[in-house]
Amino acid sequence: MRVDEALQGDPATRGERRLLLEAVLERSHAWIASHPEALLDEAQSQRYRTLVARRAAGEPVAYLLGSREFFGLDFRVTPDVLIPRPETEGLVDWALECLAPDSTAAVLDLGTGSGAIAVALLHARPHLAVTAVDRSPAALAVAAHNAARHHPPGSRVLRLLGGDWYAPVAHERFHLIVSNPPYVAQGDAHLAQGDLRFEPPAALSAGPEGLDDLRRIVAQAPHHLEAGGHLLVEHGHDQGPACAALFAAAGFCDVTLRRDLAGLPRLTGGRYPGVTEQD
Ligand code: GLN
Repeated sequence: MRVDEALQGDPATRGERRLLLEAVLERSHAWIASHPEALLDEAQSQRYRTLVARRAAGEPVAYLLGSREFFGLDFRVTPDVLIPRPETEGLVDWALECLAPDSTAAVLDLGTGSGAIAVALLHARPHLAVTAVDRSPAALAVAAHNAARHHPPGSRVLRLLGGDWYAPVAHERFHLIVSNPPYVAQGDAHLAQGDLRFEPPAALSAGPEGLDDLRRIVAQAPHHLEAGGHLLVEHGHDQGPACAALFAAAGFCDVTLRRDLAGLPRLTGGRYPGVTEQD
């Protein structure tokens, strides 16, 4: 099979086929574009056909490739972790706005999955003390791989802890807490569509309204934030008012809603003002 033959088909999915072909041939986009006549050998053709068939059956491109770009870095992804999404980059941007370039602040990423948020933060601010928590050992292994891969020289090592939300950091406080928790409502039609069908259900859905984990994260944050510290979370486009209410009930001030690139209200953040009671 020739490169140009391999790429033939529905124009809507040509970009995906090119990515799969790049992976099989271990060649760049530019090389593929300039070598339409190059021949795939038998093993490459077989491997490519298998990947195209799996994609046609719905498997996410990121899982087929084993990687996804996030915040300019290439992350390993497996079916044990949620695929990092562009809208979550807004959470990283917002966190970086809260941190000086040479900040040594203690930062907590809850439900880190692939480690995308924590690793991107540490890459941008190498002096931070970042802790990332996930209850899935398989996810922590993926996060550890990504942390090692993007470890800037001289930066602090990402601390990875296994457990449920704040459980592994029971008596610790942080200057900043970030989280992209599961927030899709159980039974939401989206769970049966597209990439979500292949992603870990525990990373996606959280109770009848999708708010079960956000409730715990926000309500317990005051026990784990330094005075003046920030909590920033991602949520569904229709969960902004509910999140604002949770932040207010937990005593946060400066509660702000931000939109994603599609203009949908998807991030809520707030500052914990005062002196917090001891655990
Ligand atoms: N943003 C994802 C989606 O709806 C859900 C991710 C999550 O639950 N944190 O496709």
